[in-house]
Amino acid sequence: MALDNAIEVLESEFHGLVIHNVHVERLWTGARWAEGPVYVPSAQQLIFSDIPNDRTLRYDERTGNVDIFEQPAFNANGHCLDLQGRLVTAEHRGRAISRIGHDGIREILVDRYEQKRLNSPNDLVVKSDGSIWFTDPTYGIDSDYEGDMAESEIGECYVYRLDPAGTLDAVIQDMVRPNGLAFSPDEKILYVADTGSSHVGSKCPPDIRAYPVSGDGDSVSTSHWTLATCTSGVFDGFRVDAHGNLWTSAGDGVHCLSPEGTLIGKIRIPEVVANVEFGGLKRNRLYICGTTSLYSMYLNTRAAR
Ligand code: MG
Repeated sequence: MALDNAIEVLESEFHGLVIHNVHVERLWTGARWAEGPVYVPSAQQLIFSDIPNDRTLRYDERTGNVDIFEQPAFNANGHCLDLQGRLVTAEHRGRAISRIGHDGIREILVDRYEQKRLNSPNDLVVKSDGSIWFTDPTYGIDSDYEGDMAESEIGECYVYRLDPAGTLDAVIQDMVRPNGLAFSPDEKILYVADTGSSHVGSKCPPDIRAYPVSGDGDSVSTSHWTLATCTSGVFDGFRVDAHGNLWTSAGDGVHCLSPEGTLIGKIRIPEVVANVEFGGLKRNRLYICGTTSLYSMYLNTRAAR
Protein backbone atom coordinates (compact mmCIF):
# COMPACT_ATOMS: atom_id res chain seq x y z
CA MET A 1 0.00 0.00 0.00
CA ALA A 2 1.36 3.41 -0.97
CA LEU A 3 0.85 6.48 1.21
CA ASP A 4 0.52 9.81 -0.60
CA ASN A 5 1.87 13.21 0.43
CA ALA A 6 4.24 11.80 3.00
CA ILE A 7 7.12 14.15 2.22
CA GLU A 8 7.22 17.44 4.11
CA VAL A 9 10.02 19.81 3.12
CA LEU A 10 10.97 22.30 5.85
CA GLU A 11 14.35 23.48 4.54
CA SER A 12 15.41 23.59 0.90
CA GLU A 13 18.28 21.11 1.30
CA PHE A 14 15.73 18.38 2.02
CA HIS A 15 14.67 18.48 -1.66
CA GLY A 16 17.99 16.91 -2.61
CA LEU A 17 17.59 14.02 -0.17
CA VAL A 18 14.21 12.76 -1.31
CA ILE A 19 12.71 11.65 -4.61
CA HIS A 20 9.41 13.39 -5.08
CA ASN A 21 7.65 10.73 -7.16
CA VAL A 22 8.43 8.03 -4.59
CA HIS A 23 5.80 6.89 -2.13
CA VAL A 24 6.02 5.50 1.35
CA GLU A 25 5.06 1.85 1.13
CA ARG A 26 3.41 -0.06 3.95
CA LEU A 27 5.11 -3.42 3.55
CA TRP A 28 3.51 -5.35 6.38
CA THR A 29 1.37 -4.91 9.45
CA GLY A 30 0.62 -7.12 12.45
CA ALA A 31 3.13 -6.19 15.16
CA ARG A 32 2.31 -4.90 18.62
CA TRP A 33 5.45 -2.77 18.75
CA ALA A 34 7.96 -2.93 15.92
CA GLU A 35 11.50 -1.77 16.61
CA GLY A 36 15.15 -2.77 16.27
CA PRO A 37 15.60 -3.12 12.48
CA VAL A 38 18.86 -4.24 10.90
CA TYR A 39 19.56 -4.88 7.22
CA VAL A 40 21.37 -8.10 6.31
CA PRO A 41 22.81 -7.50 2.83
CA SER A 42 23.96 -11.09 2.24
CA ALA A 43 20.35 -12.24 2.63
CA GLN A 44 18.66 -9.10 1.24
CA GLN A 45 16.49 -9.21 4.32
CA LEU A 46 15.52 -6.81 7.07
CA ILE A 47 15.38 -8.31 10.55
CA PHE A 48 13.25 -6.42 13.07
CA SER A 49 11.68 -6.95 16.47
CA ASP A 50 8.08 -7.23 17.61
CA ILE A 51 8.97 -6.85 21.27
CA PRO A 52 5.66 -7.51 23.12
CA ASN A 53 5.02 -10.59 20.97
CA ASP A 54 8.50 -11.85 21.85
CA ARG A 55 9.47 -12.47 18.26
CA THR A 56 11.93 -11.35 15.66
CA LEU A 57 10.67 -11.03 12.10
CA ARG A 58 12.35 -10.82 8.72
CA TYR A 59 11.25 -9.05 5.57
CA ASP A 60 12.59 -10.52 2.35
CA GLU A 61 13.22 -7.82 -0.27
CA ARG A 62 12.92 -10.24 -3.17
CA THR A 63 9.64 -11.92 -2.24
CA GLY A 64 8.08 -9.20 -0.11
CA ASN A 65 7.23 -11.82 2.50
CA VAL A 66 7.52 -11.38 6.24
CA ASP A 67 8.01 -14.44 8.39
CA ILE A 68 9.32 -15.34 11.81
CA PHE A 69 13.07 -15.34 12.32
CA GLU A 70 12.98 -16.25 16.02
CA GLN A 71 10.24 -16.87 18.59
CA PRO A 72 10.65 -16.78 21.53
CA ALA A 73 13.30 -14.14 21.11
CA PHE A 74 14.21 -12.94 24.63
CA ASN A 75 12.04 -9.89 23.88
CA ALA A 76 14.75 -8.70 21.53
CA ASN A 77 14.85 -4.99 20.77
CA GLY A 78 17.79 -3.43 18.86
CA HIS A 79 19.90 -5.29 16.33
CA CYS A 80 23.08 -4.64 14.40
CA LEU A 81 25.73 -6.58 12.53
CA ASP A 82 29.28 -6.81 13.85
CA LEU A 83 32.35 -6.44 11.66
CA GLN A 84 32.10 -10.14 10.69
CA GLY A 85 28.44 -9.79 9.73
CA ARG A 86 27.13 -11.64 12.78
CA LEU A 87 23.80 -10.57 14.25
CA VAL A 88 24.17 -8.77 17.59
CA THR A 89 21.04 -8.21 19.67
CA ALA A 90 19.97 -6.06 22.62
CA GLU A 91 17.71 -8.34 24.64
CA HIS A 92 15.11 -7.05 27.08
CA ARG A 93 14.25 -10.37 28.72
CA GLY A 94 17.75 -11.75 28.43
CA ARG A 95 19.00 -8.45 29.94
CA ALA A 96 22.00 -8.97 27.74
CA ILE A 97 23.83 -8.23 24.54
CA SER A 98 23.95 -11.47 22.58
CA ARG A 99 25.38 -12.59 19.26
CA ILE A 100 24.42 -15.35 16.88
CA GLY A 101 27.59 -16.94 15.55
CA HIS A 102 28.15 -18.24 12.04
CA ASP A 103 27.32 -21.65 13.54
CA GLY A 104 23.85 -20.39 14.49
CA ILE A 105 24.48 -20.56 18.22
CA ARG A 106 23.50 -17.67 20.51
CA GLU A 107 26.26 -16.43 22.78
CA ILE A 108 25.88 -13.85 25.54
CA LEU A 109 28.53 -11.16 25.15
CA VAL A 110 27.66 -9.24 28.32
CA ASP A 111 24.85 -9.24 30.86
CA ARG A 112 26.39 -7.57 33.92
CA TYR A 113 28.10 -4.36 34.95
CA GLU A 114 30.16 -4.59 38.14
CA GLN A 115 28.45 -7.91 38.99
CA LYS A 116 24.97 -6.38 38.67
CA ARG A 117 22.53 -7.42 35.96
CA LEU A 118 21.96 -4.94 33.18
CA ASN A 119 18.48 -3.36 33.06
CA SER A 120 17.27 -4.19 29.55
CA PRO A 121 19.57 -3.25 26.67
CA ASN A 122 17.60 -1.29 24.10
CA ASP A 123 19.68 -0.22 21.13
CA LEU A 124 23.25 -0.71 19.98
CA VAL A 125 25.81 0.25 17.38
CA VAL A 126 29.11 -1.31 16.33
CA LYS A 127 32.04 1.07 15.87
CA SER A 128 34.72 0.49 13.23
CA ASP A 129 37.11 -0.79 15.93
CA GLY A 130 34.69 -3.61 16.69
CA SER A 131 33.47 -2.19 20.00
CA ILE A 132 29.74 -2.39 20.73
CA TRP A 133 28.08 0.70 22.20
CA PHE A 134 24.64 0.20 23.72
CA THR A 135 21.98 1.87 25.86
CA ASP A 136 20.43 0.28 28.94
CA PRO A 137 17.15 1.94 29.97
CA THR A 138 14.52 0.09 32.03
CA TYR A 139 11.70 -0.41 29.52
CA GLY A 140 12.16 -4.19 29.51
CA ILE A 141 11.92 -4.48 33.30
CA ASP A 142 9.31 -1.78 34.00
CA SER A 143 6.50 -4.29 33.33
CA ASP A 144 5.92 -7.81 32.07
CA TYR A 145 4.83 -6.45 28.68
CA GLU A 146 8.25 -6.14 27.00
CA GLY A 147 10.27 -8.48 29.21
CA ASP A 148 10.23 -9.67 32.81
CA MET A 149 9.32 -7.05 35.41
CA ALA A 150 12.13 -6.54 37.91
CA GLU A 151 13.90 -3.96 40.02
CA SER A 152 16.95 -2.35 38.49
CA GLU A 153 20.06 -3.80 40.13
CA ILE A 154 22.28 -1.00 38.84
CA GLY A 155 19.76 1.70 39.76
CA GLU A 156 20.87 3.90 36.86
CA CYS A 157 20.55 3.88 33.07
CA TYR A 158 23.91 4.15 31.37
CA VAL A 159 25.37 4.04 27.89
CA TYR A 160 28.04 1.35 27.69
CA ARG A 161 31.00 0.48 25.53
CA LEU A 162 31.90 -3.20 25.25
CA ASP A 163 35.37 -3.53 23.83
CA PRO A 164 36.28 -6.53 21.66
CA ALA A 165 38.22 -8.08 24.58
CA GLY A 166 35.06 -8.05 26.71
CA THR A 167 35.68 -5.06 29.01
CA LEU A 168 32.53 -3.07 29.76
CA ASP A 169 32.71 0.66 30.51
CA ALA A 170 29.84 2.98 31.40
CA VAL A 171 30.75 5.83 29.05
CA ILE A 172 27.69 8.05 29.64
CA GLN A 173 26.12 8.29 33.08
CA ASP A 174 24.14 11.54 32.94
CA MET A 175 21.03 10.53 30.98
CA VAL A 176 17.60 9.53 32.27
CA ARG A 177 16.59 6.82 29.75
CA PRO A 178 19.21 6.65 26.99
CA ASN A 179 17.67 4.98 23.96
CA GLY A 180 18.68 5.21 20.28
CA LEU A 181 22.30 5.91 19.42
CA ALA A 182 24.54 6.31 16.37
CA PHE A 183 27.91 7.76 15.39
CA SER A 184 28.57 10.57 12.95
CA PRO A 185 30.13 9.32 9.69
CA ASP A 186 33.66 10.14 10.95
CA GLU A 187 32.86 8.59 14.37
CA LYS A 188 33.91 11.79 16.10
CA ILE A 189 30.46 12.35 17.61
CA LEU A 190 28.17 9.89 19.38
CA TYR A 191 24.51 10.85 19.21
CA VAL A 192 22.17 9.48 21.89
CA ALA A 193 18.43 10.02 22.33
CA ASP A 194 16.95 10.37 25.80
CA THR A 195 13.35 9.16 26.18
CA GLY A 196 13.32 9.81 29.93
CA SER A 197 10.12 11.88 29.64
CA SER A 198 8.40 8.49 29.95
CA HIS A 199 9.46 8.49 33.60
CA VAL A 200 10.05 12.11 34.66
CA GLY A 201 7.90 14.08 32.21
CA SER A 202 9.06 17.52 31.14
CA LYS A 203 12.11 17.34 33.42
CA CYS A 204 13.69 15.34 30.61
CA PRO A 205 13.16 17.03 27.23
CA PRO A 206 12.98 14.62 24.27
CA ASP A 207 16.46 15.41 23.00
CA ILE A 208 19.18 13.89 20.93
CA ARG A 209 22.46 14.79 22.57
CA ALA A 210 25.85 14.96 20.84
CA TYR A 211 28.90 13.69 22.73
CA PRO A 212 32.39 14.27 21.30
CA VAL A 213 34.31 10.98 21.10
CA SER A 214 37.73 11.01 22.76
CA GLY A 215 40.90 10.92 20.69
CA ASP A 216 41.54 7.24 21.43
CA GLY A 217 37.95 6.46 20.45
CA ASP A 218 37.21 4.60 23.68
CA SER A 219 35.11 7.17 25.56
CA VAL A 220 33.21 10.42 25.16
CA SER A 221 33.60 13.90 26.59
CA THR A 222 31.09 15.04 29.19
CA SER A 223 30.94 18.39 27.37
CA HIS A 224 27.98 17.34 25.26
CA TRP A 225 25.42 19.55 23.61
CA THR A 226 21.78 19.17 22.67
CA LEU A 227 21.58 18.51 18.95
CA ALA A 228 17.80 18.78 18.70
CA THR A 229 14.61 18.53 20.74
CA CYS A 230 11.78 16.50 19.26
CA THR A 231 8.74 18.51 18.14
CA SER A 232 6.39 15.48 18.04
CA GLY A 233 6.60 12.73 20.62
CA VAL A 234 10.15 11.53 21.30
CA PHE A 235 13.21 10.56 19.32
CA ASP A 236 13.81 6.83 19.79
CA GLY A 237 16.05 5.05 17.27
CA PHE A 238 17.79 6.77 14.35
CA ARG A 239 20.41 6.35 11.63
CA VAL A 240 22.94 8.70 10.03
CA ASP A 241 23.32 9.08 6.26
CA ALA A 242 26.49 9.61 4.24
CA HIS A 243 26.13 13.40 4.52
CA GLY A 244 25.84 13.28 8.30
CA ASN A 245 22.09 13.91 8.40
CA LEU A 246 20.15 12.08 11.10
CA TRP A 247 17.01 10.20 10.07
CA THR A 248 15.18 9.74 13.31
CA SER A 249 11.98 8.27 14.61
CA ALA A 250 9.36 10.66 16.03
CA GLY A 251 5.71 10.73 16.97
CA ASP A 252 4.46 11.80 13.54
CA GLY A 253 6.90 9.87 11.38
CA VAL A 254 10.54 10.27 10.46
CA HIS A 255 12.34 13.55 11.07
CA CYS A 256 15.47 14.47 9.13
CA LEU A 257 17.97 16.56 11.09
CA SER A 258 20.93 18.26 9.46
CA PRO A 259 24.36 17.66 11.07
CA GLU A 260 23.76 20.98 12.88
CA GLY A 261 20.50 19.64 14.29
CA THR A 262 18.06 21.64 12.15
CA LEU A 263 14.82 19.85 11.31
CA ILE A 264 14.96 20.02 7.52
CA GLY A 265 12.14 17.68 6.57
CA LYS A 266 9.81 14.88 7.54
CA ILE A 267 8.38 11.69 6.17
CA ARG A 268 4.90 11.55 7.63
CA ILE A 269 3.83 8.10 8.84
CA PRO A 270 0.33 7.40 10.22
CA GLU A 271 1.74 5.60 13.29
CA VAL A 272 4.32 6.44 15.94
CA VAL A 273 7.77 5.51 14.62
CA ALA A 274 10.27 3.76 16.90
CA ASN A 275 13.26 3.12 14.66
CA VAL A 276 14.63 3.23 11.12
CA GLU A 277 17.34 1.47 9.11
CA PHE A 278 18.97 1.89 5.71
CA GLY A 279 18.56 -1.15 3.48
CA GLY A 280 18.52 -2.21 -0.12
CA LEU A 281 21.70 -3.19 -1.89
CA LYS A 282 22.54 0.51 -2.39
CA ARG A 283 21.52 1.35 1.23
CA ASN A 284 19.21 4.02 -0.16
CA ARG A 285 15.99 2.48 1.08
CA LEU A 286 14.84 3.68 4.48
CA TYR A 287 12.98 1.03 6.47
CA ILE A 288 10.66 2.42 9.11
CA CYS A 289 9.33 0.51 12.13
CA GLY A 290 6.06 2.27 12.99
CA THR A 291 4.23 0.66 15.91
CA THR A 292 2.22 -2.11 14.19
CA SER A 293 3.72 -1.86 10.71
CA LEU A 294 6.85 -1.93 8.60
CA TYR A 295 7.17 0.85 6.04
CA SER A 296 9.85 1.81 3.56
CA MET A 297 10.75 4.62 1.24
CA TYR A 298 13.58 5.07 -1.25
CA LEU A 299 15.70 8.17 -0.65
CA ASN A 300 18.24 10.15 -2.63
CA THR A 301 20.85 9.46 0.04
CA ARG A 302 22.28 6.37 1.62
CA ALA A 303 23.70 4.97 4.84
CA ALA A 304 26.92 6.44 6.16
CA ARG A 305 28.75 3.14 5.79
MG1 MG B 1 14.72 2.12 21.30
